[in-house]
Amino acid sequence: MTEDHHSAVVEVRGISRCYGEGETAVHALRDVSLCIRAGELTLLFGPSGSGKTTLLQILGALLHPSDGEVPLLQQRITGRDEEQLAALRRQHCGFVFQHYNLLSTLRVWENVAIARSVVDATGSLSRHAEEACTLLRQLGLSGLERRFPNQLSGGQKQRVAIARAMLMKPRLLLADEPTAALDAVAGRRVAAVLNALAHVRRCAVVVVTHDRRLIPFADRVLTLADGELVSDQRVHANGQMRPYSISVHPPHR
Ligand code: ADP
Ligand code: MG
Repeated sequence: MTEDHHSAVVEVRGISRCYGEGETAVHALRDVSLCIRAGELTLLFGPSGSGKTTLLQILGALLHPSDGEVPLLQQRITGRDEEQLAALRRQHCGFVFQHYNLLSTLRVWENVAIARSVVDATGSLSRHAEEACTLLRQLGLSGLERRFPNQLSGGQKQRVAIARAMLMKPRLLLADEPTAALDAVAGRRVAAVLNALAHVRRCAVVVVTHDRRLIPFADRVLTLADGELVSDQRVHANGQMRPYSISVHPPHR
């Protein structure tokens, strides 16, 4: 296998991120370099406070690094104004946040379909609604389409947020602990759907998680500790993990 530059969706090089200044400064990320590719489900592990959410936000151009480059979809983002960045994100990125962000006055199916219909004004709302209901079914939410968010459990809201992000047909989907509120069965369902999104739709999917049960569904596992990327492993079909490398020849010592 040779390195496929075309499949790179977002690439960060030597990025650092610091919150605050002086004595109280927190170094949330230190010198992180990595390339996220289309067609792969990548999991991001690490203890609380290790920088996972910070890295996810930088990958999605929601946050700027203090230092380093972040080309998103082969385009440089440094120097762009907020409006241009927002347009880039709207068109290509899907986000699933920890706090769902569902609109309380809209029904479940409307929450899923609305963002898509804003961006894709040429598509009819009924088609978006139909696609929304298909996704909701795949995520195990059949029968809940007409409920309002306050009539759902945390795990159900989480899956509505996933359906909404997926309906945007993003090239990059970023999810922060999307299975945290789910039982084992629902967690596996979500993992399978995210895996299909990567493999069938060739989306680059990055998931922050503490849930090791997701590993068999993933292609790659990254681990952060104290703001540093301490391991980068590929998941093989038998569930074993090896160093993530795109070259065939392992380095000789
Ligand atoms: P994780 O998602 O792995 O728990 P975060 O990326 O949220 O880690 O945070 C990494 C570090 O940066 C933590 O020490 C956290 O307290 C700090 N941090 C995160 N966001 C902010 C912020 N907005 N202001 C100050 N410190 C922050
Ligand atoms: Mg976090």
